[in-house]
Amino acid sequence: MDFDILIIGSGVVGSGLAIKVSKLGYKVAIVDSKESLPNSFRHLSLNQKSKAFLNEIDTWERIKNSAFAYKQIKVWDQEGTGFIDFNAKEAKLPNLGYIIREGEIQKNLIDQFEENNIENFWGETVEKINHFNDKISCETNKKSITAKLIVGCDGMNSKVRELSKIDFRSWSYNQTAIVANFKTDANDSCIKQTFTSIGPLALLPISDCESTLIWSIDDDVSYKFISMSDEDFTEEVVNKFGEHIGKFEMTSKRQSFSLNHLSAKTFSKDGVFLVGDSAHHIHPLAGLGLNAGIGDVVCLANLIKENGLEDLEKISSTYNRKRIPINLGLAASMEAFKRGFGQKNIWVKLFRNTAFNIANKMSPLKKKFMELATEL
Ligand SMILES: Cc1cc2nc3c(=O)[nH]c(=O)nc-3n(C[C@H](O)[C@H](O)[C@H](O)COP(=O)(O)OP(=O)(O)OC[C@H]3O[C@@H](n4cnc5c(N)ncnc54)[C@H](O)[C@@H]3O)c2cc1C
Repeated sequence: MDFDILIIGSGVVGSGLAIKVSKLGYKVAIVDSKESLPNSFRHLSLNQKSKAFLNEIDTWERIKNSAFAYKQIKVWDQEGTGFIDFNAKEAKLPNLGYIIREGEIQKNLIDQFEENNIENFWGETVEKINHFNDKISCETNKKSITAKLIVGCDGMNSKVRELSKIDFRSWSYNQTAIVANFKTDANDSCIKQTFTSIGPLALLPISDCESTLIWSIDDDVSYKFISMSDEDFTEEVVNKFGEHIGKFEMTSKRQSFSLNHLSAKTFSKDGVFLVGDSAHHIHPLAGLGLNAGIGDVVCLANLIKENGLEDLEKISSTYNRKRIPINLGLAASMEAFKRGFGQKNIWVKLFRNTAFNIANKMSPLKKKFMELATEL
């Protein structure tokens, strides 16, 4: 079986890329190890750039009624006086972004495969990648597929990255994120994040009266929070949140994710490209991981549109030059944010709180923070 572009991994990143490049006229196939369609219950925040991309590939219209717009982000530290807020008015935008269930985006992307003539192979894992003159062959556990270009969108533990011998740096954030949904009093379209003594706790509105919680908890105590009853967990959230929450009732199962950093040393090599989490993975505290992955998709698709598939070297060097620095900068900012707020030293805390309060007042500095969130 021969294609122009073979994509491994049908998460939001891989599926979005498949639709975009098939609309450019390329013959596209997508392989995923999952036997059935993915249906993630996790909610994610999408920035304006990601929304624009989903709009361009005709997906936004299908999912917009499930997306909840947020207009403000408030971040504060309960132990000090550090506070920073971003709002849509200041940024002269109708809103800062949207919260939506990941499975809703995945389903609607996959629904578009047929109309875009994308071949999909479910339940197949990549086992070998071989290079010939102008083709790359990919052996799955079921068949052999050739293509001019292969894209690994197969997530943090990417097999494509491993088979292509692309080196990476990785370390643990020593935290586990616990995610759950809660029924709440009326929401005010604001994402609220507070830095508790055991890690950042964020509440994201997902409807007029429901929020999703992401609490990244230090590993030395996370197991206690994973294993406690729903009632005890809810009580801990209400106590640790600091602000008055009002009605608060868990409406979903709790899920947990151990948090690691990953950064591939190159994002492309010999006709193989890494996009999304296979290339970079960051702490979820700013909700930017998927947005950064969609930024990769837009960049790679534009390069393919401008250059065709004949000069892969040019695409490869430009893709690396454009995407590696952005993602390294993002990872460094997340690290600084996390380490700054994770500090137990009183002097560092004082400096940090003063810096954040100044940043909150100084609009150029705040603008820089805003750009980081929207210009991926
Ligand atoms: C708690 C938490 C909250 C988050 N919140 C946000 C947020 O609010 N906003 C945001 O932008 N980001 C957020 N992120 C990050 C975001 O979830 C990821 O960056 C994003 O989902 C990555 O998408 P992806 O398509 O690259 O990879 P994935 O979604 O991991 O998809 C990879 C796909 O590849 C397939 N696959 C894997 N191995 C193989 C193989 N060998 N062969 C074939 N197929 C394979 C898998 O089955 C899967 O379908 C969050 C992350 C966490 C942990």
